[in-house]
Amino acid sequence: MKIERIDLYWVKLPLIYPWRTAYGEDWDIHSALVRLEAEEGLYGWGETTPLYAPTYSPEHTPGVFYTLRDHFVPRILGQEISSESDLLDRLAVFKGNQFAKAGLEVAWWVLDAKRQGLPLHRALGGKRDRVPVGADYGVQDSLDMLLAKIQGAIDQGYARVKLKFRPGWDLNMLDAVRSTFPNFTFHIDCNSGYTLRDADLFKRVDRYRLAMIEQPLQAGDLVDHAELQKMIETPVCLDESIRSLHDAQVALRIGSCRVVNIKMGRVGGLGVAKAIHDLCAEHGVPCWVGGMLESALGGSICLALATLENFTYPADIFPSRYFYRQDLCAPETVLSGPGEMTASPAPGVPSEPVPELLEQRTVQHVSFRA
Ligand code: MG
Repeated sequence: MKIERIDLYWVKLPLIYPWRTAYGEDWDIHSALVRLEAEEGLYGWGETTPLYAPTYSPEHTPGVFYTLRDHFVPRILGQEISSESDLLDRLAVFKGNQFAKAGLEVAWWVLDAKRQGLPLHRALGGKRDRVPVGADYGVQDSLDMLLAKIQGAIDQGYARVKLKFRPGWDLNMLDAVRSTFPNFTFHIDCNSGYTLRDADLFKRVDRYRLAMIEQPLQAGDLVDHAELQKMIETPVCLDESIRSLHDAQVALRIGSCRVVNIKMGRVGGLGVAKAIHDLCAEHGVPCWVGGMLESALGGSICLALATLENFTYPADIFPSRYFYRQDLCAPETVLSGPGEMTASPAPGVPSEPVPELLEQRTVQHVSFRA
């Protein structure tokens, strides 16, 4: 398909409640949207959401917007692109910048699925439609507030709850949670807030019988995580350290983790996400789909990915109203049953930006025609 037009949007989405983690606090989610249009007027939307500041990873939304605009779009616009790997090959000279690459790559998948008349999850090879999803709580104003929210999640049928974990919101928080909910499935996400010098803290975490400890040590590290995994019983799950298929290969070879969180943005798109999923399946390592508080557009793309069969742990894909008063996109993402979402049979993905809301939430927009 020849790419006739590309539109880039940097958008700002106000949250209902601030998102607090080991790396800081966000009151708005900044996301980059990519619209690819092919010759027949056929188009596909993609989304990539690295946050406003480079705190989760070295990438950030303003940087992604400029990288796409100045470097990536000129290599794709007006070109006949035969596949998503053809698209990535044209960007191969550029190092890193996975979130920026994912913006274009994901839009390509959606566009190509629509061209084939297939829902994205079928184009990706997903055989099921329904996906279990979890609830996720950042650092709250108080423990009582957290416990009330967890009870709410259990009442809505979520099968697991993820808790952000950082110095000052750590073992005391787990004590309160575990004593209130003795048998429910929890895991913690440390967002790379610790080092191997904190190994004793994680040995003490073993007693809380968590499903996993997500990214305890520094982003990008594989070696110290392998050391830590030998010292503790709770499975280590890697998030920020898995940025490519190669990272996943090394992690599995040296035993850095027993679970992998896969985010399409962090690894450079759906093709790499699928390759990491397949590699983990071959090694008997379970995966789950992580999220970056995307709009319903990105959420429905994550949902399509999560239909692959080795995504066995509930995903971080949320109903729109969980984080936002009003989603930028329609239809909104919703639960289709207790703790469950269902991928749509519509070609591509069902959600797209609502034009008036897109205008209101846009920080910058640029449009290119071949
Ligand atoms: Mg994480």
